[in-house]
Amino acid sequence: MTVRSITILGATGSIGASTLDLIRRDRSSWKVVALTANCQAAELARLAREFDAEIAVVADETCLPELRDALAGGGTACAGGGQALCDAAARPVDITVAAIVGCAGLAPVMAAVEQGGAIALANKEALVSAGDVLTAAVAQHGATLLPTDSEHNAIFQCLAGNDLADVRSITLTASGGPFRCWSTEQLSQATPAQAVAHPNWSMGAKISVDSATMMNKGLEFIEAYHLFPVGLDKLKIVIHPQSVVHSMVEYRDGSTLAQLGPSDMRVPIASCLAWPQRMDTPLAPLDLPAIGQLSFFAPDEDRFPATRLAREAVAQGGSAPAVLNAANEVAVAAFLAGQIAFTRIAAVAEETLQRDLPPQPRCLDDVLIVDAEARKRAASLMEPA
Ligand code: NAD
Ligand code: MG
Repeated sequence: MTVRSITILGATGSIGASTLDLIRRDRSSWKVVALTANCQAAELARLAREFDAEIAVVADETCLPELRDALAGGGTACAGGGQALCDAAARPVDITVAAIVGCAGLAPVMAAVEQGGAIALANKEALVSAGDVLTAAVAQHGATLLPTDSEHNAIFQCLAGNDLADVRSITLTASGGPFRCWSTEQLSQATPAQAVAHPNWSMGAKISVDSATMMNKGLEFIEAYHLFPVGLDKLKIVIHPQSVVHSMVEYRDGSTLAQLGPSDMRVPIASCLAWPQRMDTPLAPLDLPAIGQLSFFAPDEDRFPATRLAREAVAQGGSAPAVLNAANEVAVAAFLAGQIAFTRIAAVAEETLQRDLPPQPRCLDDVLIVDAEARKRAASLMEPA
């Protein structure tokens, strides 16, 4: 049996935990190289010991002493800081699971791309911010980008064996989030606790808020644009509250292929880990009679403007998607901290995009400069909730 090597960037998060759950069930097939976290040193050390990782890295250097103490006496090396994170990501592996949240994941993703292995990309913000810079690096270094976001993984599976030229449309499904039926008035009063309580998926706080604003679908629209170059006019979004159909591809002969499955990220993660083969997951088979009905609705961009903002940003091109992403990250953090109202999140993103935008980023450093600049602009737009 071949043992495959794996690095998990963002091992302590929701996607990291789902990935490690799959590895734990088939321990002898995997060699864990690097596990990383932002600052959860104790949890990271626990995982590094359990999976006998070569190295554990905390991005926040101030947490390194705690990590070092927690790993003392074991076989795992440790390191801290942004450069150490990129160095760990650059270690050659068969597959890297990119599961850091936000543009903070971009530099390590680029380092992983440069070592040329497969990248299971959950960290959509990296692709939204870096767009062509990241896809060009993937091509240059012969890396393989495996979409892990459930919608993009669904599309990837539905495209297998087909020609992009035959695609009539690609439809991303969206649950609509916890506030799907709320009025604008109600939305303005939404609390962080309500926003992170997603009806179908259990996820990190940032993506949960993004799902509630529909910015998640906006970011995914931009992600799809880069992963599946069929042209913007062929990309669609439909609300599907049950989250059973994860996305669809329609072909020119009138056939539409969809991927269905339980709303559990272990399914798309397993599809990436085993690709191009298949592996077992512990999930119950889909029980369609128990689900009963699948429904589909058009999105309402008056109550949820984020998908419009994303479509406009990607159509505008240049630095607009990176600015949108950065402004959204700042606004979501402010909302979670109780500093701004829920409805200000998309407004802050829109106002940040209305300023003069920096030129198109040409390399990783350009993207990081655009990101930092947009964060400053967005921060200046905060108003008390
Ligand atoms: P999470 O908040 O649960 O975990 C994030 C991970 O990133 C943690 O390990 C954390 O320590 C690390 N991290 C946070 N900030 C960091 C920083 N500044 N530098 C280095 N590491 C940092 O998030 P999640 O829900 O697992 O999501 C991770 C990514 O996957 C996001 O981009 C999200 O959009 C995407 N994604 C998540 C889901 C899901 O179901 N959770 C589904 C699809 C896509
Ligand atoms: Mg998704």
